[in-house]
Amino acid sequence: MFDAPILDPRRLCRLGETVEGHCLPADLSALQGELHNPDGVVQYRVVGSLSADQQPLLSVYITGQVQLTCQRCLEAMRFDLDLCTHLVLVPDEAALPALEEEQAGWDVIVCPTQLVVADLIQEEIVLALPVAPTHAQGPCGASTVLAAEPAAHPFAALRSLT
Ligand SMILES: [Zn+2]
Repeated sequence: MFDAPILDPRRLCRLGETVEGHCLPADLSALQGELHNPDGVVQYRVVGSLSADQQPLLSVYITGQVQLTCQRCLEAMRFDLDLCTHLVLVPDEAALPALEEEQAGWDVIVCPTQLVVADLIQEEIVLALPVAPTHAQGPCGASTVLAAEPAAHPFAALRSLT
């Protein structure tokens, strides 16, 4: 686990504070089963604020790269993270909105007494990972993909002879 703070989320929001830092993919224990290798870096920023009606809001921004395993060729595949999540913190479950009332782009959660920043970051990344990551066709080493590429121009071979 990486060295990220554990905070009082209500205080963070009230003061409008920002927590930011970076960690290595290897520090994210929840990701270990997903990583092809530990290369990469993850930057995070958690911004607290209050809505117009004094509701605590958390915005979570995550950028960086991790190395997943391509499910087609089983080689390493760089996966770019560019996540932005907005959370509305409500005091208890009774305050959670019904599904049909949920606003697009906002997730409503019961405010935890402690905000473990490292856990928050990990959860957001795990949610964002593709179920079956695969390279784009060009960089993928799998032969089935190469065969599917358009046939080379008939004169391309001649060019390589010169
Ligand atoms: Zn591949």
